[in-house]
Amino acid sequence: VRMRLDRTLALSSAIGVLLTAFSVSTALTTSRADGIEEIDYQLTREAVRQRDDIDEYFERARSITLIAAQNPAFRAFYQVSSPASSPTSDTARQPLNQGQPTAHINEALGYLQRLYPDRIGEACFIDLNGTENARVIRGKVAATEELSEDESANPFFAPSAALGADEVYQAAPYLSPDTNDWVVSNSATVFDDEGRARAILHFEITLASFRERLGDSEFQSAIVETSTGKIIARSSNSPGASRLLVDPGDTHFPVATGTNGINRTAVAQALSIDSYRFATVPTHSRSTNANEWTIVAGTLQPVSPLVGFDAVQLGLAAIGILIVAASILSYRVNQSRVRIARVDELTGLWNRRHLLESGANRLCSLLSQPGSARSGSSSVVAAVLMIDLDRFKEINDTLGHAQGDEVLRQIARRLSAAIADENQLLARLGGDEFAVLMAAPGTSRTVTALAATLRQIIDVPIDLDGLLVRVGASIGVALAPSHGEDMGALLQHADIAMYDAKRTGKGVTVYDPASDPYSPARLSHAAELRRAIEHGAIDVHYQPKVHLATNRTAGFEALARWTGSDGRAIPADEFIPLTERSGLMLDLTRLVLDQALGQLAQWHTDGFEITVAVNISPTSLLESVFVAAVADALHRHRVQPRYLVLELTETAVMDDPEHSLRVLEELRRIGVSISIDDFGTGYSSLGYLRRFPVSELKIDRSFVQGLGDTAADGAIVEAAINLGHSLGLRVVAEGVEDEAALQRLRSLGCDQGQGYLLSRPLVAAATAQWLATHRVLPRPVPPVTPNDASALAHLDGIAAQPGTD
Ligand code: C2E
Ligand code: CA
Ligand code: CA
Repeated sequence: VRMRLDRTLALSSAIGVLLTAFSVSTALTTSRADGIEEIDYQLTREAVRQRDDIDEYFERARSITLIAAQNPAFRAFYQVSSPASSPTSDTARQPLNQGQPTAHINEALGYLQRLYPDRIGEACFIDLNGTENARVIRGKVAATEELSEDESANPFFAPSAALGADEVYQAAPYLSPDTNDWVVSNSATVFDDEGRARAILHFEITLASFRERLGDSEFQSAIVETSTGKIIARSSNSPGASRLLVDPGDTHFPVATGTNGINRTAVAQALSIDSYRFATVPTHSRSTNANEWTIVAGTLQPVSPLVGFDAVQLGLAAIGILIVAASILSYRVNQSRVRIARVDELTGLWNRRHLLESGANRLCSLLSQPGSARSGSSSVVAAVLMIDLDRFKEINDTLGHAQGDEVLRQIARRLSAAIADENQLLARLGGDEFAVLMAAPGTSRTVTALAATLRQIIDVPIDLDGLLVRVGASIGVALAPSHGEDMGALLQHADIAMYDAKRTGKGVTVYDPASDPYSPARLSHAAELRRAIEHGAIDVHYQPKVHLATNRTAGFEALARWTGSDGRAIPADEFIPLTERSGLMLDLTRLVLDQALGQLAQWHTDGFEITVAVNISPTSLLESVFVAAVADALHRHRVQPRYLVLELTETAVMDDPEHSLRVLEELRRIGVSISIDDFGTGYSSLGYLRRFPVSELKIDRSFVQGLGDTAADGAIVEAAINLGHSLGLRVVAEGVEDEAALQRLRSLGCDQGQGYLLSRPLVAAATAQWLATHRVLPRPVPPVTPNDASALAHLDGIAAQPGTD
């Protein structure tokens, strides 16, 4: 007896040891994969951030070059030296020695220098025949005899001379002969009063200033020339070097020249070299920019084989094992209680918790079966279906919660009847969301077939005490292991696919990693954002735009605010791009328009004749229903269209100028006005400003912020104000943060200002107080006058036919 007992004990402890070893080893491998994924995510994020920064730096230089080339001083030069006043062409340089024009041109070149303190090579003004008319180097004006007779052999010259209006050429790095610094140059054409190309405005920015942008983070980073792999600059914390490396023979980034070279078409790529991890992201390429670069971010140390798995985890695992052992003991006692914690009260289905926990166990064992998991990519080990009802909110709102609950119970009953297979696990996640985990379905076709069946089952009308209602469903599918190897990833990916199914009306959609290059961490965010938008959990704040001449309030800009479920205020700069990527932009725009126009109607009722501005993202402009959505919102709130301003960035407009032009004309026909936001940072094309029905220019805050202390930004702001006024546009300066900037804007004749100095964005309730103290024209604004009848009839037409554009 005793021996038998010993043997049983030995056997059970052996099994225990085996189990422990097994769970620790699976924990190790999944932790490592997670750890690497996390590192890659961080690296990619860092590389993307730096890439955006570099792109922006190039864009800013472009804008500055274009705006500076408009400086009347350059044109004046050709008035003075026109054939009438100086008959021979080799007297072209003489006016420079005659006082005024010289001073103005050198001043204009000097402004460029001051825009980039210590970061600039030369700035010069070169005639198209190659003669250098003026040059300023580090703030010093070059004497006439130092000017070059012929610059036409310089590599930047020919491409620059061939530029059209509104184009800037950005040359590849070279060693500046004047300053001995490595530089990248910018040039634009200068036109005379008759519109003839006469000269080139050319200035250099040091490569060192690009390197500064790489900053110092917990990662090393480098700018690499994409075609050659030559390292152009690297961050100062990168091992080995902290200098510019551009001379021939300098270090190359290994993968760029090796067999697995940088994939030029890839959005972002993660790779491993000598146990270091790297992420590479290409910069924006443009035919007039000779710099095709890739930003590389890498770990500072080789990645340890134990990454993602630390002592704390080990400890937790041990505790976990103890807990599991303890809970097995009391399993029977607790069984009913456990069951309650894992069951959805309303429907009797499993809840999210059970799905996650039991799903995790099933996945783990499925994936560890030999031959099933990572070997065959076509085989599907498991699948997650995310089911979201389509018209449930309407039913809940119109028929009441009791009936809503009944709908959920009936749907749940149908689903559980359809999912009787023990390999399938059905759960209600909350609200109108259900999920199914299918173990070992074999192929993706089995999964989509089940999804289609479930949709049909849900589609059958539901009887609510004699009233027949129909709810539809959209289903997203994620497959293991290709779309994820844990429940979290699978649920998130299924959620993304489900949203896609809903948006496109396809009903069932399988997750497509190609259209979603972002990490799981972001995806859960996206799901949360979608819920926030659906449930109106996005707030709109209002920041005053003030007439600078009178201090009266001209209007407010509506700015979206999102408070995450953890109570954290998520900055607009962070969630706007996420909204864009998740295909939620039109929903957000609708929500903001709705709130802003409701608020506008209230201000008008209160007698304040002011405008409201709403930001429109680039993708909204491309949506065919966009104009109809605007018309519809105006119509519902019965406000006159001319009080609505839509703020668009230059990039949005220039993505597809012909399409934008059509949309903007339609908006103009409705009567809303258009403002060009962030002017000076984007794809500045002065041509479109003349051609497009735009009524306002908002100078980007980056130019306005430094206005108080440097004369440099003053030049750009002044040029932009004059440019705007010459085109008959209202000019607004955003980012007014101090008194000095405000005074400067006033003296430059800027029409309106907006910024923290005047007011931070206000919650809706605080705007009445603001208006009471910052009087607007005390004239009552009728919601709709008889004169607007025809305009509104037009709106009705548009609002009634969504889809027309
Ligand atoms: P934006 O259109 O340039 O909006 C102005 C941003 O500048 C706002 O940031 C505002 O709070 C901030 N700001 C205002 N005055 C000052 C100042 O004196 N100094 C500084 N440093 N900043 C100032 P916010 O609200 O974080 O919005 C950031 C961006 O997100 C906006 O830039 C806009 O492009 C976008 N955004 C915000 N709401 C919406 C929206 O409803 N729809 C769309 N499509 N985009 C939005
Ligand atoms: Ca704006
Ligand atoms: Ca802006």
